[in-house]
Amino acid sequence: MFCPKCGKELPGNPTFCPHCSARLIEEANVSPKSRLATTLLSILPACFAINGVHRFYLGKIGTGILMLITLGGLYIWTLIDFIFAVSGAMKDKDGKPIKNW
Ligand SMILES: [Zn+2]
Repeated sequence: MFCPKCGKELPGNPTFCPHCSARLIEEANVSPKSRLATTLLSILPACFAINGVHRFYLGKIGTGILMLITLGGLYIWTLIDFIFAVSGAMKDKDGKPIKNW
């Protein structure tokens, strides 16, 4: 195993890299998707009655189509997803939280 930040070899399976002190476990459990993109895509297209675009971005095609045809559950679902996206609680298709801006 090698550190994704500094590229040095890691002894065993540490939580922190002993060379650059990068947090390794948390990085592996966080989605590579952008929190900013998820937030903007959840609310901006919704202003033009297009809901669920952020779910397509996250690979959640099924619920994305559902949001699109239900007007985002008459915007209630859109509002909930927006709050989730802003707070970093939104998850991608692999179930990883989208925390990185
Ligand atoms: Zn490192």
